[in-house]
Amino acid sequence: MQQPPVISGVSTDGDTRSTGERSILLSLLRGARLTCPACGKGAMFRRYLKVSDHCPACGEALHHHRADDAPPYFTIVIVGHIVVGLVLAVEMAYRPPLWLHAALWLPLTVLLALLILPPVKGALVGLQCALLMHGFDPNAEEEIVPSLDADLAKTPPRPRRLDFQP
Ligand SMILES: [Zn+2]
Repeated sequence: MQQPPVISGVSTDGDTRSTGERSILLSLLRGARLTCPACGKGAMFRRYLKVSDHCPACGEALHHHRADDAPPYFTIVIVGHIVVGLVLAVEMAYRPPLWLHAALWLPLTVLLALLILPPVKGALVGLQCALLMHGFDPNAEEEIVPSLDADLAKTPPRPRRLDFQP
């Protein structure tokens, strides 16, 4: 069996973004295991959902990720399909009272969402890394997010009500 291409080493010019080919499936699976998509050894998260700035094992920069709302979105899709399927199956088979439905499915939904969210986020960060999205591309300029304050400073202040001259 052919080995998936391994992500090549980290560049030496102080930039910690790795270069070269990256296997999409391998990066995605490493991310889903909550490990660095580049080496698969270092932990991706420093807290529950906080992605480390750099991999503690290989130094790959991970702060470029822009997972944003995608992990909760995919988590809702996954948990929704599991829980709704179970609710319908139990309702059709046993017709339990509504309080029992609430007692079963509400905690299960919360628990599943909390369990599934980190691997989903890890997989998405791994996917972004493999596809060289955002700052993961070693040839890309650093993304500069214009600050709202800078935009506000350029626009003249709106006249306030007390400034009105009759
Ligand atoms: Zn690593």
